[in-house]
Amino acid sequence: MTDGGPPAGQSADQPFIRQRDPSPGRDLSYPPLPEPLTVPVYDNHTHLEIADGHEGETLTYREHLDRASSVGVRGVVQVGGDVETSRWSAEQALREPRMLAAVALHPNEAPVYDLAGGLDDALAVIAELATRPRVAAIGETGLDFFRTSGDEALAAQYRSFEAHIEMAKENNLAMQIHDRDAHAEVIATLRRVGAPERTVFHCFSGDAELAGICAENGWYMSFAGTVTFKNAGKLRDALAVAPRNLLLVETDAPFLTPTPNRGRPNAPYLIPHTLRAMAEHLGTDVSMLAAQISSNTELVYGSWNAEPVVLPEWAD
Ligand SMILES: [Zn+2]
Repeated sequence: MTDGGPPAGQSADQPFIRQRDPSPGRDLSYPPLPEPLTVPVYDNHTHLEIADGHEGETLTYREHLDRASSVGVRGVVQVGGDVETSRWSAEQALREPRMLAAVALHPNEAPVYDLAGGLDDALAVIAELATRPRVAAIGETGLDFFRTSGDEALAAQYRSFEAHIEMAKENNLAMQIHDRDAHAEVIATLRRVGAPERTVFHCFSGDAELAGICAENGWYMSFAGTVTFKNAGKLRDALAVAPRNLLLVETDAPFLTPTPNRGRPNAPYLIPHTLRAMAEHLGTDVSMLAAQISSNTELVYGSWNAEPVVLPEWAD
């Protein structure tokens, strides 16, 4: 994989740089706007570089952020997964007050770079991006035993994860962990290498036991649309025991669209569905939970200097 940067003649201000595969049979229409939140939250993990939706109806990152603002989602952490998307994330965050960036090689990309002999060079680019303004996190990094297998590929994944942990610590940045079918090994790695001060399990996928381990270590748990799924009882058990001061919320858009729009394109403006499902399960007020999560999010990533949210008239 090479590091192209924006092709010659194109401005770096690209409204998106990837297109999601329109798998056959998927409903490609964007869901309607949910009822706005009265207390705003942040989406701490999204991929606005990936366009989704019907041809000709894709939203630019600014359109996504405008929709998000209109329902009380103040800002996002835009997450890269390879050199190109990490660079894009860092560049757009500079132009956009509602966006902070996270930069990394995704655990399934690390073996691809390694196979092409370019893992060290790619890690060096990420290390440079990590020093840029408005890059607030290293991520997503971690371990993925679901899509990566084989000794060499896994060795590259571990090497990349450990290098990212060091980058987060060196730059005093938060770190977003991608952990797929690798809970025990992620925890063992964090204990062996030493976790960054602000460590986030993005798209938390563990049970109450893992939530307990995160709680003991002060690691943040970021819940995605998966927590709204019917069959996600274990995830909701984890949510119930997670300390409120370690909770975050995210979309992982354009993937993992929350109920009731499962399967359609996801976007930061759909986070109210996930937040409301979380509040309902916890038996707490949505605004109280939103206030807690917003304050947690700012502790982890710092300030966005986001534009003020346009509140609905009835909220004055
Ligand atoms: Zn992601």
